[in-house]
Amino acid sequence: MTHVIDGNAVADRITDGLEACVETLEAEQVTPGLATVLMSDDPASETYISMKQQGCADLGIESIHRELDPSASADDLFEIVAALNDDPDVHGILVQMPVPDHVDSTRVLRTIDPLKDVDGFHPENVGRLVAGDPRYKPCTPHGIQKLLEAADVDTEGTDAVIVGRSDIVGKPMANLLIQKAPGGNATVTVCHSRTEDLAAKTREADIVIAAAGVPELVDGSMIGDGAVVIDVGVNRVEVDTEKGYELVGDVEFESAMENARTITPVPGGVGPMTIAMLLYNTVKATAIQEDVSVDL
Ligand code: NDP
Repeated sequence: MTHVIDGNAVADRITDGLEACVETLEAEQVTPGLATVLMSDDPASETYISMKQQGCADLGIESIHRELDPSASADDLFEIVAALNDDPDVHGILVQMPVPDHVDSTRVLRTIDPLKDVDGFHPENVGRLVAGDPRYKPCTPHGIQKLLEAADVDTEGTDAVIVGRSDIVGKPMANLLIQKAPGGNATVTVCHSRTEDLAAKTREADIVIAAAGVPELVDGSMIGDGAVVIDVGVNRVEVDTEKGYELVGDVEFESAMENARTITPVPGGVGPMTIAMLLYNTVKATAIQEDVSVDL
């Protein structure tokens, strides 16, 4: 029987655990604050922000929201980030990507105070992760680490294949899996659009992590017997219903189920973990900045 990991249940356990940390902070008169900045009309970005705000509200984290018209200047955005950097009530800052083309997204990431960079994308935090001393682990890969742990998957000595080499998922995932630490010690292959014979690589893997943004790219024939399959993909595919679309992963779930030992669904797998780990990083950022010890 293939085990389907319930990402909502694992995420709930993590956020339940964070409640005690928020209480510890409150006892020291500290309320964690997470600022979100939106410079986009994209409905998906708006949905992501409101899910993050809801997660904050449920946990007693203060949400601060700043919104700019997509036609605003890059300097307007940098001014907002600078003000949030200086605001002592703000412990975490998240600029929702993508930003419009006229804004240099790399500069945005560099402008956020590294101590408030709860996404973990500032070069200082990326460097610490690569050096094996992470401050804030990027939320999606960290969430996947927690999912694997919850499903009793020991990564040590495994062959892991990651499909995708983005800065937000593929690369940090690889860095976490090769760390000399629990949840690491795997041998990692990172594939991308120029990889020759992707199927030959994934078929040999003990763990396949699909983060390509291509609907159902990985099917059952690409999964070895007894492999663990983590589907990061969230792709909107048009369908003939009232809503007009459905969400599909990067893995063809039904055929992959036939070979996989353990698999994540879409939705309800990695997605909820990304939000839970953002809340985790916000609590950690608050504890660091306010010099309060919490049990994370
Ligand atoms: P990007 O588009 O930034 O990166 C995609 C990566 O996949 C690239 O490295 C690309 O290669 C590679 N790729 C594309 N097509 C192929 C292919 N045919 N074969 C092999 N590799 C391929 O995407 P993200 O990393 O931002 O996101 C990936 C997916 O995960 C998306 O569906 C996204 O929506 C989802 N996502 C889900 C999250 C969640 O919380 N559930 C969070 C973040 C992302 P190359 O570098 O050569 O172009």
